[in-house]
Amino acid sequence: MEIAIIAHDGKKAEMVQFLSKHKELILKNNIELISTGTTGGHAENSGLSVTKYLSGPMGGDAQIAGRVAEGKVSMVLFFRDPLEKHPHEPDVLMLMRLCDVHNVPLATNPATAALLMEALG
Ligand code: PGA
Repeated sequence: MEIAIIAHDGKKAEMVQFLSKHKELILKNNIELISTGTTGGHAENSGLSVTKYLSGPMGGDAQIAGRVAEGKVSMVLFFRDPLEKHPHEPDVLMLMRLCDVHNVPLATNPATAALLMEALG
């Protein structure tokens, strides 16, 4: 199962915390993590292996959106920072839209992400 993880800069620390907390579950379920570039680097620091795409502002969200459209992604965990402006907001909206088009579970904050992870058992 492939899960995409993305965190805006103000949320990267929370993403690392989240991954550390769910590390056993991720390994147990053979989850393959994919991510935008910088988020992936942080995630690797928590000891998980991650396939990294481009950094978000350089097109990483768009690359992940493409994989969602192709049916390759089972879940998207996107810790958004609603208090900052982002130059790649159009890409972010595209990713969220494609999750809805293809009925792919999308968590946009840690609380929802935790509930989705619980569902994996
Ligand atoms: P980043 O991109 O992981 O490369 O910082 C995330 C984003 O801002 O969409």
